[in-house]
Amino acid sequence: MKTNALDKLVSFCYSILNSGIDPSKSHEENRHIQRLIIFILFGIGVNVISLLINLFHQLYISLLINLTTTLLLVAAFFLTKDGRQNLAKGLGIVTINLYLFAISYAEGLRAGEHLYYFPFLLALIFVIDIRKNHEELILTSVVTFITAAFIFILAPYVSTVQTISTEQYSGLFSSNLSLSLVTTTLFTYYILKTLEDNEEKILDEKRFKDTMYDTSLDAVFIVEINSLRITDCNKRALEIFNFQKKDEILLKAVKQLLGDKMEEHIIVQGKQPFTKKSPWYGNMDFFRNDNAPFFAYVNIVPFAHSEIHYCKISILDITEIKVAEFEILKAKEKAEKAAQVKSRFLSNMSHELRTPLNAIIGTTNIILQEEYLPSQRQSFEVLKHSSEHMMQLVNDILDFSKIEAGKMQLENNPFNIKSLFQKVVASFTSAIDSKNLTFKIDIDSNADMEVYGDELRLNQVMNNLVSNAIKFTERGTIGIEVKVQNKKSHSADIYFAISDTGIGIPQNKMRQIFESFTQADIETTRKFGGTGLGLAISKKIIAQMGGNLKADSETNKGSKFYFNVNFKITNQQKSYVDEDRIKGLTSLEGITVLLAEDNPINMIVAKRFLQKWNLNILEAENGVKAVELFYQNKPDILLIDLEMPEMDGAQTVAVLRKSHPEIPIIAFTAATYENMREDLLSKGFNDYVPKPFKPEELHKKIAYYTLQGLNEHLKAS
Ligand code: ADP
Repeated sequence: MKTNALDKLVSFCYSILNSGIDPSKSHEENRHIQRLIIFILFGIGVNVISLLINLFHQLYISLLINLTTTLLLVAAFFLTKDGRQNLAKGLGIVTINLYLFAISYAEGLRAGEHLYYFPFLLALIFVIDIRKNHEELILTSVVTFITAAFIFILAPYVSTVQTISTEQYSGLFSSNLSLSLVTTTLFTYYILKTLEDNEEKILDEKRFKDTMYDTSLDAVFIVEINSLRITDCNKRALEIFNFQKKDEILLKAVKQLLGDKMEEHIIVQGKQPFTKKSPWYGNMDFFRNDNAPFFAYVNIVPFAHSEIHYCKISILDITEIKVAEFEILKAKEKAEKAAQVKSRFLSNMSHELRTPLNAIIGTTNIILQEEYLPSQRQSFEVLKHSSEHMMQLVNDILDFSKIEAGKMQLENNPFNIKSLFQKVVASFTSAIDSKNLTFKIDIDSNADMEVYGDELRLNQVMNNLVSNAIKFTERGTIGIEVKVQNKKSHSADIYFAISDTGIGIPQNKMRQIFESFTQADIETTRKFGGTGLGLAISKKIIAQMGGNLKADSETNKGSKFYFNVNFKITNQQKSYVDEDRIKGLTSLEGITVLLAEDNPINMIVAKRFLQKWNLNILEAENGVKAVELFYQNKPDILLIDLEMPEMDGAQTVAVLRKSHPEIPIIAFTAATYENMREDLLSKGFNDYVPKPFKPEELHKKIAYYTLQGLNEHLKAS
């Protein structure tokens, strides 16, 4: 019960001491309010004690003064609580001054009330923030001293206002003296304690800043700009520069420790007008005390303190990062070299694989066009199909590695969109018929336009999408849709879509199918074969053309692959070569072709076709022989292999072009490489036919170049 009452009393006192404290205000402001409350409470306390003493001595006028003062101080207390501190402070100071004057006058100087001026002056120092408000302090002190002077001038030594006996005087004097001494002691103690606290706080702040300074990972140097000497540094600076004590660094010239460059930067900082100074930062290298070099990231920040200009230099050791960067660079170079080796290897492999494949495919084609036993037909078909499939795989892997290395470059030659699709349709008609599927072709009539682009790559994408559609469809329809969506004078947006009514693709596999070597499920590989590269390559090719290959699909209902590409339209609307006429021309009688080829099997394969078209053939097994035969027989066109012994294709063309710049020369090659067309044109070839060649393509090109000459000749005559 007792404890409870005590607790209540303590919490009551606490709440009184904390009245007026506002958490939204700063710590400093709240401390000020608290001091004011203590000042007012002391005033009230002293007054109440004085009131009791006066009651004891039956001095009723004094008692009345005490009562008035107490009430005024209580009012000051409530003003403080209300947040009106300045008014409360003013009221408190005035009240106490008036009180001392009034009570000294009423009781006479002999009673010793004026002794309260000592604690009162101390209380003023305590209440007024002398660091910030010294004017207020001076003003209040002057007023207080004037009041005190008035007291000594006006107040009588012995009271003339009320009757006070000699015993009462001595009692009053001794109690006023002791009370004023106690109050003085308390305020003195409080002021000293506050000063000590402040000092401790300042020291603590300094220690905190020192800790921050010394625990920094940057070496920090303070340099005086005028003398260019180091005036301070942190612990990390000693560690990084390998020194034991600060003394070894302090007052050293910057140049001596941090080098000429650093000195130059500081001089530049010193020359700038101080208000315009801005920090410098960048990479530099330094030497440690033991002459070991290291790399660092540095920033130099100018500042002023006590009117002296300094620079703070922060140095972060980044040697490890630099070493790691160097290692990464080395690793990158190594990886690039490895990629180059891989790319060279793939290119060589392609040549090596394509040459025998060319022979196999060519020979199979010849056999299939000639007579054979009916029992052999199936084997030849298998041979044809497998060799063509293998060629497709070789091409896919080559394309993929080219794309991976970012080395696939698209051609930008004119071609006709409609004719490209007619060719695509023609090449798949028999496959679709043999599976009893319907072919739904919807090619916009506006697509009959010449555009710039890579016909071969677009064809490759279409072939991949259509062959997938056929592969994964057992019944129903395969659709090809080409729509010109946004045609302007110089460009056109064209929409392409290939749809089917096949097995479809599960939703959760839709993303995956565009990744390399990925198929919708393992069963697919078993049942339909394939590498899982076609869509990955197609997606990248279309992306490089500026489009986005997407797919919609529903399991067991079918799939649709579609994309948009923007093409530049050529000025020339139609090819001047009459394609129909070339198509109709199976015989090329009367035309002489010089065929330079070192591989005997390739020679046989090519010759068989050329003979079929009734061409006169001149055979050369190397470049030297080709030049010789050319000058002897003056053929109409040359088919020249690139890689031949003694004199290769390019050298042969270079020799021939000197005397015959107009003669059509077609490169005949199994190699593929970047910018092949540009490269061959620059070497003097008119065109190229890749091996293994498509007979129609070879026929078309021979016809094109020889008939063009014929046409021009006819036109001229
Ligand atoms: P490949 O056909 O050689 O396996 P692709 O990259 O062309 O490789 O195709 C990846 C996978 O996407 C195929 O294995 C198949 O699972 C799925 N896919 C592609 N096209 C179709 C389609 N038209 N219908 C159903 N599934 C398809």
